[in-house]
Amino acid sequence: MRETLVLNASFEPLSTVSLRRAIVLVMQDKAVVEQAHPGLRIRAAALDLPVPLVIRLSRYVRVPFRRQAPWSRRGVLVRDQHRCAYCGRRATTVDHVVPRAHGGGDTWLNTVASCAEDNHRKADRTPEQAGMELLRRPFVPTPADTMLAALGVSVREELPDWLVQSA
Ligand SMILES: [Zn+2]
Repeated sequence: MRETLVLNASFEPLSTVSLRRAIVLVMQDKAVVEQAHPGLRIRAAALDLPVPLVIRLSRYVRVPFRRQAPWSRRGVLVRDQHRCAYCGRRATTVDHVVPRAHGGGDTWLNTVASCAEDNHRKADRTPEQAGMELLRRPFVPTPADTMLAALGVSVREELPDWLVQSA
């Protein structure tokens, strides 16, 4: 997959993202195309876009791009898009998959967004002990994930396959 370089509004290089994510950012007016592929265009339905090689964010964002984002409760909720990892409803709390009482830590891989009800029901038990299933595995956000979250773009947001296949 072709990668697109992302510049901050100040022209400082930040990260690379997939072509799909670059197109999402441009289509949502979160970024402008600074440099495009000289020959290729993306044509689909009413859409006709240059293939972005470099895009620049429309507004300046402050996020720790060059290192792993530090763990925080808010960061977990943003990573999981405020969706409960057990039922998919709106989450307002952070659950420790391995409970702190059993040595589970405040880490990206041990915490998930949870609704208050499921968090209370699970209590100091592992998902297995509580008979609860994780709908998705927790993951460590990449610098690109952190940047997209700061821009208010869903981390998992992607364009449909047919759009990029026509590039
Ligand atoms: Zn829930």
